[in-house]
Order: sequence, then C-alpha cells, then structure tokens
Amino acid sequence: MKIRLLLILLLAASLSARAQLLENKDAFTHADTLRGSLSLLRTCYDINYYHLDVKVNIDQKAISGSNQFKFTATQDFTKLQFDLFANLNVDKVVYKGQTLPFTREANAVFVTFPQTITKSSRDEFTVYYSGKPTIAVNAPWDGGFVFKKDSLGKPWVATACEGVGASIWWPNKDHLSDEVDSMMISISVPKGLKDVSNGRLRKVTPLKDGYTRFDWFVANPINNYDVAANIGDYTHFSDTYDGEKGKLTLDYWVLPASLAKAKKQFGQNVKPMLKAFEYWFGPYPFYEDGYKLVETPHLGMEHQSATAYGNHFLNGYLGYDMSGTGWGLKWDYIIVHESGHEWFGNNITGKDLADMWIHESFTCYSESLFIDNNWGKKAGQEYNNGLRAGISNDSPIVGVYNVNKEGSGDMYPKGAVLLNMVRTIINDDEKWRTILRGLNSTFYHQTVTYDQVVNYINTQSGKNLLPVFDQYLYYKNLPTLEFATQDGKLLSRWIADAQDFTMPVLVKIKGGEYKFITPTNHFTPVAIDGATETNIEVDTFNYYIGILKD
Ligand SMILES: [Zn+2]
Repeated sequence: MKIRLLLILLLAASLSARAQLLENKDAFTHADTLRGSLSLLRTCYDINYYHLDVKVNIDQKAISGSNQFKFTATQDFTKLQFDLFANLNVDKVVYKGQTLPFTREANAVFVTFPQTITKSSRDEFTVYYSGKPTIAVNAPWDGGFVFKKDSLGKPWVATACEGVGASIWWPNKDHLSDEVDSMMISISVPKGLKDVSNGRLRKVTPLKDGYTRFDWFVANPINNYDVAANIGDYTHFSDTYDGEKGKLTLDYWVLPASLAKAKKQFGQNVKPMLKAFEYWFGPYPFYEDGYKLVETPHLGMEHQSATAYGNHFLNGYLGYDMSGTGWGLKWDYIIVHESGHEWFGNNITGKDLADMWIHESFTCYSESLFIDNNWGKKAGQEYNNGLRAGISNDSPIVGVYNVNKEGSGDMYPKGAVLLNMVRTIINDDEKWRTILRGLNSTFYHQTVTYDQVVNYINTQSGKNLLPVFDQYLYYKNLPTLEFATQDGKLLSRWIADAQDFTMPVLVKIKGGEYKFITPTNHFTPVAIDGATETNIEVDTFNYYIGILKD
C-alpha cells in the first residue's frame, strides 16, 4: 500500500534543458530523529523475539497489555530506546522481577538497566502499557485502529500503521532495519468475536473476564508495521497451492455475508497470482506461516502472511483501472498488489523509510509481471505504460534518510516504469527473471539499502545502471535525450541531473528496426546510417524520457 486513486490532469511537461535539483524544504524535529535514526541506544540491541499480548476493549476503544522483548546485546550498554506513542501509558517496565526506571521524549522511551548488559548476551524485559490508541481517520493512509461495524452491526476492528509505525499501538523497537526473528501475537477480544493476526493460529483460550484470547505465532522475521490485529465475526475457508517449495496453505477469513463473493474472487485471483510471482520472484517467502487474506474495513495492506483485503471483491482498484488500458480490470488489484509485497517489502525490506521504493516500485511493477504471466509481455508493458498517467514528477522518489520520511508517491508508477526500462536495457528476459529471483534469494528475509539493491542488479546484469537508478529515484526530472545536427551528422546526448548520466536507449529510423545507442552527457554521433533529426524515432513506449530536437 498505499497508492491513492488519483485522477490527474496531464500537463504538457516542459522539460528545461537545465534540470533543477529539488531542494528539500521539510523541517525535521528531534522527535523525527528519535523515530527515524539508528542511535547507539537502538543499535546496542538486536531484537530476537516479541510476545505481544493485548486486550482490545472495543466499547472503550482502549487497549491494555504487554510486550516482551527478547534481544541480543550487540555491545555493552546500560540504557536503550524503545518506541511507543506518547498518548499511550507505559505502566511499567519489568526486568528480572524488578521495575526499571524510564524516561519519555516524544514517542521514544528510554530504559535504564541496573547493571551493564554485556555484549553478545541474550536478555529480555517486558513493557506493560495501556490507553486509548490513535484512531485512524482514513486507513490505510493514516495509521492506528479502525473501529467499525459490519453490515449486521457487529464490531469490526483492524489496525494499519505503515509509515507512521507500529509504535502507534504497541511498544517495540520501531525501526525498519531490525525485524524480529519470530513473534507471538496474543490478542484478546470480546467473546463471540475472533482475532486474525499474522502467522498461524496456535491456541484459542476463553478468559474468565468474558474475553477470548487468540495466540498467533509468526515463525519468520516480520516488519513491525506488518503486525496486525483484525477483529470481527469472521468465518474461515481454506485451500492449498502446490508451489515451488511444496504445499502452501491458503487461509481466508471473511465476514459471513461475504463468503460466496470471497470464494469466487479469491478463487479466481490467488492461485494465478502465486503462479506468476513464484515464476518471476521465486518461492513465496513465508511457507511456514502460510498465505492468508483477511477481509478488513479498510482498503488493504501488505500485512505479512495475513494480507488485509478491503477491495469489495471487485476487479481493478475498487473497480477502477489504474492504467486506463483495460488490463487493470482483469484482476483484483488489492490481492495482486498487496500479495506482491510478500516478496518486495516483507521478504526484502528497505532499512530506512526513505527507500520505500524498494517496497512500492517493485510491487507496482509486479502488477505488470502478473499481467505478463497471464496475458503476455505486450499486455504487461501496455499496463505499465498506462501507469504513466499517475506520475507527478514533483519530487524525488527517495525520501529523507534517518527521519522516517518517505519520498514521492511516484515511487509507485514511476518506479514501475523505471523497472520496465531496466528490463528493456538488460534486453534478456531470462536474465531479468534470474535477477528478480536472485534479489529474493540473496536478500531472503533481510533488510537492505539502496546500494545493495542497485549493486546486485549491476553485478548480475553486467551493466552500470547506477546513473539510471539515481536519476529516476533521487531526482524529480526525467532525463532528456537531445538530438542535434553538426556538419550533416546526427548527434545525441543526455541532459540529466545524475552524475555522468548515461543510459542505453532504443532508436530507429522510421520503418527500420530498433537498435541500442548509448549516449552520454556529451554530444556523440548516432551510429545509425542515414539517421536525421526528422527520421529518428525513440522507443518511447518503453522509455519514459524527454526528447529534445534542436
Ligand atoms: Zn504497496
């Protein structure tokens, strides 16, 4: 998530020959630094295991409970930081039977231990907390709890917290770079309702106070923001998929009134999606935890092994084709997109929110590969091309590092268009598929940086695509291919912001065959006999660039 449905008036893009660097005018506070940076108070411990145990009082819109932190010390320390939004109370922090002193600043909590925690030791503490969590006004685009009622008037509750962070509803080390290795999620809900969280249901326990506790165990590393509570009068059906790693369990949790529609829509979409993504990206990354779809009162979110689904069992994005080509209406956008995140976002996670393109650009691109797998390459590229209508070119796709700040929403369509260009440049679809699968196996269950992703693609493709990624991700302007004629010869060069920008591009003479030329940022001759400014054509179907003829 969280692309918004935008109806955009396309303005004729006037690309200045001197592209401008966007200055970032955002002002960041110390609170942003506490949230987004990796200080020693965070890097001193590596989180191994959480047991989140929370009761949700739906009438009061309140929560109370605890989270146990099991960690390994990466160095000697006496003080650490965890995160919990300031509007929630920290009731106590318990370590070996004693309460620990703590202080709070913004949404950070600092705990001091009675003695030095020594490097490499494994230790644990438990945070007890309570209060009224933030209510999301417009989930999943903002974060917090969603308290709604289903069509029969029964409570229907969900959490969503991408971007803002999981510390909006539970205490944790809230930085993308540290995924917990495994986790128990215990959610207690009023009797008669069910909770569906990530991983596999281990136990259901009726409690004396009229609540029922659902224990879900996640066996794989998981992003904090993927951890979800979904509470409602759910009904369940299941299936299996014979995938690359064996039998994958498919579990579906929907409201009883949705059952017939869900069986049809999930039946039509889930297996073709798994087939396409296992082909392009490799095995589903969480066989141990299974694949799930959970009907939610918000549109959807990539909650790992418990994908949130709120697309009303319609094809397209709420019935709308993001590409305007018709290809977007042949499948359920939320099932395909949010499940695509199991590979990009959940399996491979960006270490910093500034690199959310690693989640969204690849996942938006996965939509065209889903089409490619079902209706052919041309169809996938037509869809990809159609996504350009949603590009703003207003600010860079990469956000600001160390302050939990994501970049432009262009990370979706422009990122997808970039990846189709990279495929075009590599010009070997089998190699491209190997690279996409290799990213998923090389960085399996890991958090990664911009450089790790781009360097991997460079090494495997044997091409230096760094200037291409840099131009499209760090700058808002498109590179412009300029043609000029000197002494009767056709010359070309790139005008771009990225240092030493160069990119192979497909050109042809009207009626001829496309051929790669590789202009640099200095004029060089176009090596095609007879080419002139009048008859030269550029593959603008696959290349999203500016063109300037003198
Ligand atoms: Zn997404």
